[in-house]
Amino acid sequence: MENGIYPIIEPLLTWYYQHRKSYPWREDREPYHVWVSEIMLQQTRIEPVKLYYTRFMQALPTIESLSCISEEQLMKLWEGLGYYSRARNLHKAAQMIVREYGGQFPQTAKELKKLPGIGDYTAGAIASICFGERVPAVDGNVLRVIVRIMGSDRNVLLPDTKKDITALLQEVMPKESGAFNEALMELGENICLPNGVPLCDQCPLQGNCLACQQGLTDQLPVRMKEVKRRQEEKTILLLVSPQGRLAIEKRPPKGLLGGLYQLPNINGYYTEETLCTELLSRQITPLAITPLGRAKHIFTHIDWLMQGWRVAVTAEADGFLWVTPQELKEAYALPTAFKYFVKE
Ligand code: SF4
Repeated sequence: MENGIYPIIEPLLTWYYQHRKSYPWREDREPYHVWVSEIMLQQTRIEPVKLYYTRFMQALPTIESLSCISEEQLMKLWEGLGYYSRARNLHKAAQMIVREYGGQFPQTAKELKKLPGIGDYTAGAIASICFGERVPAVDGNVLRVIVRIMGSDRNVLLPDTKKDITALLQEVMPKESGAFNEALMELGENICLPNGVPLCDQCPLQGNCLACQQGLTDQLPVRMKEVKRRQEEKTILLLVSPQGRLAIEKRPPKGLLGGLYQLPNINGYYTEETLCTELLSRQITPLAITPLGRAKHIFTHIDWLMQGWRVAVTAEADGFLWVTPQELKEAYALPTAFKYFVKE
């Protein structure tokens, strides 16, 4: 990924210093204030957080007061904000800071990440805003802004995309790291809005933004959930009759490879012995069973891990279509998954 982020630093910071919104937690750079607000903002919009934040700080003005409060009182203060594990982690982290750090916040992202509930993003935000460490703070808003500026179709739901964008931001991080991180967050929150409706005409980065210039704002960012793949073990049978014909059958009309012809197959793996028993239970009498090896076929959501067997049978059993290898080649569309086991 080429680093096209350098040119945005100056216009972004200029815009931020002029338009920066004032929030209760921005009145100072106190780590306790920044931390509590960042945790509250994680799954909640800014407006409701303002009220909760103000009430929280009135009740618990210092990290020591947070560390001493009972869990019941804390939950009461958090009531309505949801995601209560955030509050429990705040509590635990406050107790750790008082106990292990003498009430002083750790000052680097690396140290901050040792505290419960503080991940890469929150650690980067606190370390850069409060202590001026040159580290990025990458959340969904920041990812959206950066992939749009770069016109990148990388999937923002993949950890690798976040990792690469974090590295790019790390490379360009200016001295005013806190302001730069806040500016990116604020641009994402208020201007570079999701779902194809960014306010590009109000954006200071219009001249630097490939998505805007190429009309791609409704297509970026790409957000594709990773599909969980299923693995299925299959035994594929090349049944050969005394006349040299092969058995094929039609798949059910719906579902994977719906309505296509296939070689007979059964789920799971078999040994020669268990396969022989299985075939006899299906009224197929084997004369000779020879392994054909293994193959893997990848469908969109499923992998078939296949083991093939050539089975010379005593007669052409009912329930199959018996065709010569020539007919199979010329008149029937056999899906690729089965071709591994049919010799030309
Ligand atoms: S120009 Fe539009 S799409 Fe590009 S960063 Fe600004 S608001 Fe987002």
